[in-house]
Amino acid sequence: MSAPSTPESTDDPHLAPKPVRMLPRAQRPQGLYDLSLEELTAKLVEAGFPAFRAKQVWHWVYRQLAPDYDAMTNLPADLRAWLNANLPLATMPVIRDSATDDGETHKLLYQTGDGQFVETVLMLYPDRATVCVSCQIGCAVGCAFCATGLGGLTRNLSAGEMVQQTIDAARRAREVGRTLTNLVMMGMGEPLQNYGPSITFLKRLNDAEGFGFGARRMTVSTSGIVPRIDALADEPIQLNLAVSLHAPNDELRSSLVPINNRYPIAELMAACDRYIAKTGRRVSFEYALMRGINDSDEIATELAALLKGRLCHVNIIPLNPVDVLPYERPDPAGIERFAETLRNAGIPATVRYSRGLEIDAACGQLRAKHEREREGTLAEV
Ligand code: SAH
Ligand code: SF4
Repeated sequence: MSAPSTPESTDDPHLAPKPVRMLPRAQRPQGLYDLSLEELTAKLVEAGFPAFRAKQVWHWVYRQLAPDYDAMTNLPADLRAWLNANLPLATMPVIRDSATDDGETHKLLYQTGDGQFVETVLMLYPDRATVCVSCQIGCAVGCAFCATGLGGLTRNLSAGEMVQQTIDAARRAREVGRTLTNLVMMGMGEPLQNYGPSITFLKRLNDAEGFGFGARRMTVSTSGIVPRIDALADEPIQLNLAVSLHAPNDELRSSLVPINNRYPIAELMAACDRYIAKTGRRVSFEYALMRGINDSDEIATELAALLKGRLCHVNIIPLNPVDVLPYERPDPAGIERFAETLRNAGIPATVRYSRGLEIDAACGQLRAKHEREREGTLAEV
């Protein structure tokens, strides 16, 4: 348990935490989403309720997506009253709920129990509905083009806070007649620097007694924390791995993704190879395309040579410019040319425009603009 004035660790010994504003963990509200079924059972039994009630609650929460305890109509009133008084279902109220004009992208802005802001995005496609989950408030990695990392890391989210984002998104999808089918950890934060809670969260969703989310429909995206990629390969659930590469050589990558100084490309590729060998699964490489930075024909050719022979796919994400950062998106012809160069060299590549630009819900934009507005600093940046 951290002392009140101690900045929270990233849980990565290699990264020094930056100064933060936050409450210690002990003062943050714990909710039902923070508990395993076993923990819930123990709590209910301790409070004098029969053990079987825990599974009933669990099914209401993870199968029926009940929004509150009062919806759990087959529970006795005294149990509902106890739950309401002792174990909040959701710990983070939604303080802003926006959607794009076409209704295909929804963003939920939460305020956590300790006054932080968290964002979650639900993207509706014709064939799938995907939630983009945040795992940290801020991020310690500090990629040059990403809004999340601008202020450093404030704190890790708990597994329960990640569960809530997902269940809320699933409920929202259901409200518009859809089923949540996919999950990507591509919101705020670096999941492999908040490893334990992120894995607990994914396993909890995967659990067949509850939500039963297929592991193959869940993707962990990382800037390249090599030892944790190995740990992920050893997990009993086989998740998809996306690696944010963004450059084919160390000089360029280190200037964009500072963690590359710690885990350079050769080590990262070796870890990806081990992951592929162990899991038999294809790795996705994310590539945020920036004009004049990493979008030349030469760089495309160099990238193709780096990836040649690997079981992989490249997702080219045309950069979402961040207002306070100097990076720009190439024009459509340049984007297509980069993709074609990769494909001609035998590397599968897809251009993916990220959703939600008009509501600041796109990759790299989740920085809780709300917080800046609230603090009155928006006009200065
Ligand atoms: N921290 C993890 C996951 C969250 S970021 C990671 O870096 O992989 C999710 C993806 O959005 C990453 O591929 C990241 O590089 C990308 N991204 C960040 N800022 C972006 C921006 N401004 N435009 C496009 N993609 C961006
Ligand atoms: Fe952190 Fe990912 Fe943003 Fe880099 S791109 S600063 S790792 S959230």
